[in-house]
Amino acid sequence: MIILTGKAVFGGITRGKLLFYHRDENIVSKTIVDNTEIEMQRYEYARSCALKELEELYQTAVSDVGERDAGIFIIHQMLIKDEEFDKTIRRHILSDRYSADYAVAKTARDYSHTLGEMGSEYIKERAADIKDISDRLIRHIQNKSQNRFEMSEKAIVCADDLVPSETVQLDRSKVQAFVTCYGSSNSHTAILARTMNIPAIIGVGKELLESYSGRDALIDGYGGAVYIDPDEDTCRAMERKQEEEGKKRELLKRLKGRKNITLDGTKIRLYANISGLDDVEQALENDADGIGLFRSEFLYLQDQRLPDEEFQFYTYRRVLEGMKGKKVIIRTLDIGADKNIKYFGLAKEENPALGMRSIRLCLTRPELFRTQLRALLRASVYGELSIMLPMITDISEIIRTRELIEETKAQLRARCQPYCENIELGIMIETPAAALLSDILAPEVDFFSIGTNDLEQYVLATDRQNLQLENYRRDLGHEALLRMMRIACENAKKHGIWVGMCGELGADLSLTEEFLRMGISEISVTPAQILPLKQKIRSMNLKEIK
Ligand code: PEP
Ligand code: MG
Repeated sequence: MIILTGKAVFGGITRGKLLFYHRDENIVSKTIVDNTEIEMQRYEYARSCALKELEELYQTAVSDVGERDAGIFIIHQMLIKDEEFDKTIRRHILSDRYSADYAVAKTARDYSHTLGEMGSEYIKERAADIKDISDRLIRHIQNKSQNRFEMSEKAIVCADDLVPSETVQLDRSKVQAFVTCYGSSNSHTAILARTMNIPAIIGVGKELLESYSGRDALIDGYGGAVYIDPDEDTCRAMERKQEEEGKKRELLKRLKGRKNITLDGTKIRLYANISGLDDVEQALENDADGIGLFRSEFLYLQDQRLPDEEFQFYTYRRVLEGMKGKKVIIRTLDIGADKNIKYFGLAKEENPALGMRSIRLCLTRPELFRTQLRALLRASVYGELSIMLPMITDISEIIRTRELIEETKAQLRARCQPYCENIELGIMIETPAAALLSDILAPEVDFFSIGTNDLEQYVLATDRQNLQLENYRRDLGHEALLRMMRIACENAKKHGIWVGMCGELGADLSLTEEFLRMGISEISVTPAQILPLKQKIRSMNLKEIK
């Protein structure tokens, strides 16, 4: 038996086969062929498929995000059609007798190399575009229709690390657990694992070898241990642990339907954080009073293309209907940093967490934002919708968003499409600027929701993706973070708006009392964390002098 240990980010015990995640990098080896004619046909076919695909992507993007931002797909078409690029590939096939995929890969590599050596950032970005088009061409040459990691059966997914777009594209019904070499507990992949309700262990280190793929393993998501080829004693011990945990969960279930109220009568709303329609059932099963954070960006990460207005409208509507009149707070697109979307063609940034992300991106690509706002407004008639803006640092961002909302309403009126007039608009307090300016921001909005994941990283200067910094966050940082939170709470109170929180810290039961004392009236956590929080709240007495 081999034992590996890491940091447990979500509990649960499961047994299954380990399966290593393979990025869908195109594997191309140097191959010399006899029949160059066939290779030319393969190349021609792939070229026309890629051009057709790009034209379709362009057309969809034009209506969703406008002509300017859809332009990337035109650039990609131009690159494929570029005479020199095309000629070089053909020469490699006909003269060097390379296979079609190798001819494309070699041409792209040589081009990217030359571009990458140039000083200009703009030209360097074109190197990334060349990689993109060569991947597309090779995918067609190799007849791969999808860029996805396929799982034929249930397994424990292992990886060096996973980015959110990779995690969200996995077949949920087949993932028994996640184990990664790196990662941090506040990363979006860890957050997703919690929402998916499956055991997850991160930071196991390099000892997690790819050669373990296919081996039998027991995952202890409570203790953060991976047992490969477990012995009988371990299996029995894990069975016992699973039984004990099951009993605790059963006890918690008895709290379902009970009020979230402290012994002294303070009422708290306990909401769920979700990343898609699939999570609604879990939210209800765990007694959520509403949805405190629907991370809408996961709709954009699921596929290789933009979700159009209809798809978004349908999803938001189904979530609102599913919650049966309970409040649903949908956060507008919060993309950037670790949540990167290839098809957005975002420029490479030195510090993406401090970069062109989130509300900044939405306001610089208004067509993209308008599509989402239209879908949200149209869905608003199907339930109790609130809209929440991420990463706010300045009042102008709220004012501009309100203008866009008003423009969208006018558009819908002209189209005779219904929407609710009075939709609550709130902002996340997740930057120090928003907390410090909260007295100025409060009169502009209906509520605040404190995003401790980002607020913590910005206040404490601790990259939330970095596992090495976990101790700094916990042991040194709290007071600075709590002071920031108190500022926001005091200003919210002064201006008569409510304040909630939706970061991972909301589930830290050792801090619940602190949060309630500062005036937080809503806490939104992963569905599975709601009942423990309910138990904690019902046992507290805020009238007791500390
Ligand atoms: C946060 O920053 O606390 C938050 C809830 O948003 P996210 O984790 O998606 O950045
Ligand atoms: Mg955030």
